Amino acid sequence: MRTLSTAPPHRALVLARGSFGYQLDVDDGVKIINTIAFDAGQFEPTQPTAPTKPPTTSASPSAPDTSFPPPGLILRAGWGADETKRLTAGGQESSPTRFSPVQAITVHHTATSLDDPDPAATVRAIYEQHAVSNDWGDIGYHFLIDRQGAIYEGRFSGTDGVPAHNTNNEVVTGFHTFGFNSGNIGIALLGDFNKEKPPPRMRESLVRLIASLATRHKLDPMGNITYLSPTSGKSTNGPALGGHRDWTSTECPGSNTYAELSTVREQAAQLFR
Ligand SMILES: [Zn+2]
Repeated sequence: MRTLSTAPPHRALVLARGSFGYQLDVDDGVKIINTIAFDAGQFEPTQPTAPTKPPTTSASPSAPDTSFPPPGLILRAGWGADETKRLTAGGQESSPTRFSPVQAITVHHTATSLDDPDPAATVRAIYEQHAVSNDWGDIGYHFLIDRQGAIYEGRFSGTDGVPAHNTNNEVVTGFHTFGFNSGNIGIALLGDFNKEKPPPRMRESLVRLIASLATRHKLDPMGNITYLSPTSGKSTNGPALGGHRDWTSTECPGSNTYAELSTVREQAAQLFR
């Protein structure tokens, strides 16, 4: 049984491995319910799977590894992204890639189970939900991190092998922080961090990924920015490295992740060069 948040957007991805049915228990007064069931296990990787183990040379203050892409990053082919899900029936990108200079990095959680025996299948399920059910054209996040610290490439950004970016070092526009998506890199932690704390390996990878992105974009993780929306022209003050709730009313990235962000900023800043 899963209790959904009363906060908008009233939407949840519920992992239910081994299930053969489901039952909904909703409050009085609910008028519209949409449920979609899909089998993430049906999507098998079409190319050899990239190494799924986190690098043994994990980040430490004495030997920071801020290279990008991060060592061991699992590319879309590695987690079994079915690229046809980004396309219309006519074979066009349903949400064509757009790029802009990086302004911010925003941390999310997926509100799925942290106790997850197959995180790649969960990434595929999130992809299906975002690209097909939500009709966002693709997975909304730029990167996802599992409890073992493995980092997954998210939103498609071209075929040059550099995740999330084009050759001008601009970032592909994701779909994770409504009103603040252009130039905002979304990193999602797989789990529900209102309930639990991000495990150590996940946290290490988060710091390392932030440090590598901050270094690449000369973005001080401790800094504040004035975010300028290139679409609306509106500017808003916020943190260079923030949580989803810094930009809009949401529980994301979970209270336990949010409480860690100040030390994550400090640790990423120590690796920032
Ligand atoms: Zn979020």
